[in-house]
Amino acid sequence: MVAATSSSDIYDEEHELFRESFRAFVEAEMAPHVDEWERAGIMDRGVYVEAGKHGFLGMAIPEEYGGGGIDDFRFNAVLNEECARAGLGGGALGMMLHNDITTPYFIEYCTEEQKQRWLPGIASGELITAIAMTEPGTGSDLQGIATTAVRDGDEYVVNGAKTFITNGINSDLVIVVAKTGDPKDGASAMSLIVVERGMEGFERGRNLDKIGQHSADTAELFFSDCRVPVSNLLGEEGRAFEYLAFNLAQERLSIGLYGVASARAALGWTVDYVNERTAFGKPIASFQNTKFVLAEVATELDVTQPFIDQCVMKLNAGELSASAGAQAKLWGSEVQQRCIDKCLQLFGGYGYTTEYPIGPAYADARVCRIYGGTSEIMKTIISKDVLAGGSGA
Ligand SMILES: Cc1cc2nc3c(=O)[nH]c(=O)nc-3n(C[C@H](O)[C@H](O)[C@H](O)COP(=O)(O)OP(=O)(O)OC[C@H]3O[C@@H](n4cnc5c(N)ncnc54)[C@H](O)[C@@H]3O)c2cc1C
Repeated sequence: MVAATSSSDIYDEEHELFRESFRAFVEAEMAPHVDEWERAGIMDRGVYVEAGKHGFLGMAIPEEYGGGGIDDFRFNAVLNEECARAGLGGGALGMMLHNDITTPYFIEYCTEEQKQRWLPGIASGELITAIAMTEPGTGSDLQGIATTAVRDGDEYVVNGAKTFITNGINSDLVIVVAKTGDPKDGASAMSLIVVERGMEGFERGRNLDKIGQHSADTAELFFSDCRVPVSNLLGEEGRAFEYLAFNLAQERLSIGLYGVASARAALGWTVDYVNERTAFGKPIASFQNTKFVLAEVATELDVTQPFIDQCVMKLNAGELSASAGAQAKLWGSEVQQRCIDKCLQLFGGYGYTTEYPIGPAYADARVCRIYGGTSEIMKTIISKDVLAGGSGA
C-alpha cells in the first residue's frame, strides 16, 4: 500500500522506538509553538535544551562528552521525517542544521580540549551551532569568500561579513569559513574558525524576512577586528575546503531526505482533504484527475525513497560520495517541490492560505533547491563524476 508514512525498510526496532518517543516530543514541545515561532521569526532556545534532555541532540557525540554515543544517521533521518510529518517547516531547520550539519565538524575536527569545552553543551542544547560560509558577495563560489582571519600572536583577527546564516541569531558557536592564507588563493587559504557568542567585534545583523521557513532565524553576521583565540581553530589551517567537501555530502543528503519526507507528509494531508471536500456533489477524491495526481505523487516518492535509503546506509558505512550526496539533494528537493505543488492544487483556494499546512509547506520547500548548494551546483558536482566515467552515485 502506498502510504503517507515512509516506505523505508532500513529501520530497526530501536529506530522505531526512538521515532515514537520523538513524535511525542514534537506533539508536546514543538507543534503547539510553531505559530508563535513563525510570527517571531525564530524558535525559542528552550526547545533545544528540552530536546537535549530527551536525547534528541548530538546522538553521534561520544557518551563521555554527553552525547548518545551512536554514530548511525538513521536516528537523524527519523528526526527529520517526524519534523516533516508534523509540518514544522523552519522549526525543524535549525535543529536539523545543529544535528546533521554542524555537529559532525565538532566531532571530527575538535582537539581533545575543544571536545571537552564544546561537545557537552552541543549535546545538551545549551550551545546552539551555526556554520557561516555564504557572504553578501558570494555563495556558490565558496573559494571567492572575502572574510579573513589574520594571525596575530595567539589570536586570529577576523574581518568580514556573512549572510543567510541559519541559527544566525540563536547560535552560540559559529563555524566561520575564513581565509587564513593569501586572500587571492582559493581553497588552500581557507580555514574553519569557531567564533563564540559575546566575542568582541562579532555582531549580528538583521534576521532576514523570508517567504517561508519563518521559524528559522536566518541572519547576517559581521566581524570587525574580532579577536578569536588560536585555540578556536577547527582542524588544521588551510584544510577547510577539504573538510567542507567531505561533510557537505551529509548536509545534502539531510536536505534531500527531508524533502522526500515533507512531500510524503503533504500526500497524507491531501488524501485527507480530497476525501472530505466535495464539488459537483462528489468528493474531490472521486475525480479521475485527483486519483492520477495522487498516484503520480505516491510513485515519485516510492521510487525516490530507496535511493535516499541507500545513501543513508552508505553514509553510515563511510562511503557516501560527494556526487551521491548531490544527487540526493538535487532529486529529493526537486521531487519535494513538484509533489507539494501538485498536492496544493488539489486544495484549491485553501491551498494558498495558511489554514492548512500545505500552503506553508509549499513556501518552505522552495529554498531546498537553493541552500546547501543550488540545484545547478549539484548538477556541476554530479557531472564531474559522470564525465570521469562514474554513474553519479
Ligand atoms: C533560508 C536560507 C538558509 C541558509 N542557510 C545557510 C547557512 O546556514 N550557512 C551558509 O553558509 N549559507 C546558508 N544559506 C546560503 C545558501 O547556501 C546560498 O544562498 C546558496 O549556496 C546560493 O548562493 P547565492 O545565494 O550567493 O547565489 P549565487 O551563487 O549568486 O547564485 C545565483 C544563481 O546563479 C547560479 N549559479 C552560480 N554559479 C553557477 C555555475 N557555476 N553554473 C551554473 N549556475 C550557477 C545559481 O545556481 C543560482 O541560480 C542559506 C540560504 C537561505 C535562503
